Amino acid sequence: MKIPFVTFLPMEKELDQELRDAFDRVLTNSWYILGKEDEAFEEAFAEYCGTKHCVGVGNGLDALMLSLKAMDIGEGDEVIIPSNTFIATALAVTYAGAKPVFAEPDIRTFNLEPELIEQVITEKTKAIIPVHLYGQPCDMDPIMAIAGKHGLKVIEDCAQAHGATYKGRKIGTFGDAAAFSFYPGKNLGALGDAGAVVTDDDELATKIRMLGNYGSDYKYHHVLKGNNSRLDELQAALLLAKLPSLDRMNEERRRIAECFLTGIKNPDVILPYIPDDCTPVWHVFGIRCSRRDALEKHLNDKGIGTNKHYPTPMHLQECYRDLGYREGDLPVAEEISRTELSLPLYYGMTEEQIQTVIDAVNEFR
Ligand SMILES: *Cc1c(COP(=O)(O)O)cnc(C)c1O
Repeated sequence: MKIPFVTFLPMEKELDQELRDAFDRVLTNSWYILGKEDEAFEEAFAEYCGTKHCVGVGNGLDALMLSLKAMDIGEGDEVIIPSNTFIATALAVTYAGAKPVFAEPDIRTFNLEPELIEQVITEKTKAIIPVHLYGQPCDMDPIMAIAGKHGLKVIEDCAQAHGATYKGRKIGTFGDAAAFSFYPGKNLGALGDAGAVVTDDDELATKIRMLGNYGSDYKYHHVLKGNNSRLDELQAALLLAKLPSLDRMNEERRRIAECFLTGIKNPDVILPYIPDDCTPVWHVFGIRCSRRDALEKHLNDKGIGTNKHYPTPMHLQECYRDLGYREGDLPVAEEISRTELSLPLYYGMTEEQIQTVIDAVNEFR
C-alpha cells in the first residue's frame, strides 16, 4: 500500500461544492484585490481566533515581517527565535532589517525553552517570536512573563497551529500580534499563497494593513514605505469556504495522532510529548530516533512517505553563515534536526493506512 506523506484529495473531495461556489462567486463579482471576500474572511478568522482584528496579507513570511516593521523593529535590533523552525521565521527578521538570534528548544516539546530565552537577551533585543511548531502550543505563560520583564514584544508564529489551544485559550491571542500562513499544506490552507496577522491592537492592525498595501492610507497617498502583500479575493473566498471545517478536521488529526501515540511501541522511537495544558493540532507528527535515516529508508521502502522538519537548523544554514554560528552552538536544535522524522498524518487517512504506518514503525529494528 502506498501512503503519501500528505494529500489534500480527501479534504478537497469533501469540500468540492463549497470551493467551486467560492470560485464562482469571485468570478461573478469580477473583483480580485481588497474586496468583500477579504473583508468577510478577516472578520470570520478574527472571530475564530478570538481577536479584535485580522489583517489578510500575501503569505506567512509577510505576516511576520510586516508585524515586525509595524512595531518599528529593524536596523540594529535583535529578535529571538528558535533555530528549529522553517526558514521564514528567520527571514522575516532579516527582511525587517533586524538580526535573528537563535534560542534552544525543549527536546521533548520541540518548542522554545522559556528558561533559555533569557540567556540570549541583550540590550538590543526587541522581540521574541515563539513558533508553535508542529501544531504544539508553546509554553506561553513564562514566555510572556520574560517578555514583560524585559519590555519585549511577542509575535506568535502560528503558521503550523491554526486552532491549537494553551490552557483552554487559542494560540495567537497571547502575544502583541500573531502571524498565520495559509500555504496549502497548513491546517487551514488556501489553494495558493496567503497569510494573515491577528491582533487586539488597533494601531498595529491599521499599520500592518497600510504596510501591506504600499504604505497607503488612501489611494495614491503613501504614509509609509510599504510592500505589496494583500490577501487576494479568490484565496479569501476559498479560505472562507474551508474555515467552518477547520475544527472538525483538526479533531480528526488528533484522533489519528492518538492512534499513533497508543499504537507505536518501539523502544528505539521517542514519541511526541504533549504538556497537560495543551491541545495540539498535529500539523506534523514528529517522532525521534537515533537511527533516523535507517528508519526513514525502512518506511520509504514500504511505500510510506516521510519528511524531516527540519534537516538543518537555521543557525547552520548557508544563508546565515554571516551570523557566525558554528556546529555545537545549539546542541538541542541540532539533535532534533539529526533525529526527527515526520510520519504521514492528514485528513482522510484510512484506518488501514494508519495501521500500516504503526506496524511499519513497530517492525523497525
Ligand atoms: C509555513 C511557515 C511560515 C511561512 O509561511 P508562508 O506562507 O510559506 O510564507 C512561517 N513560519 C512557519 C513556522 C511555517 O511553517
